Amino acid sequence: MCNCNIMEKSVMEADDFKRCVEFHGHICPGLSIGYRAALEGMKKLNEERSPDEEIVAIVETDACSADAVQVLTGCTFGKGNFIYKDHGKMALTLFSRNSGKGVRVSARSNSMAPDETHFALIQKIRSDEATDEERAQFNELHLAKSRQILESPADHLFNIKSVQMELPPKAKIEPSELCSICGEAVMRTKLEVVDNKKVCRGCL
Ligand SMILES: [Zn+2]
Ligand SMILES: [Zn+2]
Repeated sequence: MCNCNIMEKSVMEADDFKRCVEFHGHICPGLSIGYRAALEGMKKLNEERSPDEEIVAIVETDACSADAVQVLTGCTFGKGNFIYKDHGKMALTLFSRNSGKGVRVSARSNSMAPDETHFALIQKIRSDEATDEERAQFNELHLAKSRQILESPADHLFNIKSVQMELPPKAKIEPSELCSICGEAVMRTKLEVVDNKKVCRGCL
């Protein structure tokens, strides 16, 4: 048995990382950096996983990292305390409603970048041109990059700074009304009025 298996055990076998992998479906560098970002952010805020809406998370990419954030912070799409901004950046902002404190964790420019070989293989796999051998090589590099991210010191991976921001209001529960075209129940605030009729956005 080689030494790298011992390393693998220490981080990749952690229960909370395994939960992220189970939710996301695979191990990848994106999930790994999201995992690290969420852990560092929570540590900085001195918070535990949010069972309700105590924490608000704002992610700036909808890539793999966002799934680790949901698992670790307990901020989820369905609870309304998980906010997505389409900025194409690996950055996570967490706010605590308990303490009023906020933190932004953003990836340093070189922390995620695959090397040339890895990048070329990613392109080949995307366009379905990779041979079995290239796929195997890709898997190896992908796993190695993931492990590297999981084991790097936080200050190599991220810029971390305190932020202040007005918190978004807690999720509201609105009564529903029926759309006059499809007849389906719609949250009242989401109906549009057309020719004096209330119409859902799907029918509009
Ligand atoms: Zn992924
Ligand atoms: Zn409708």
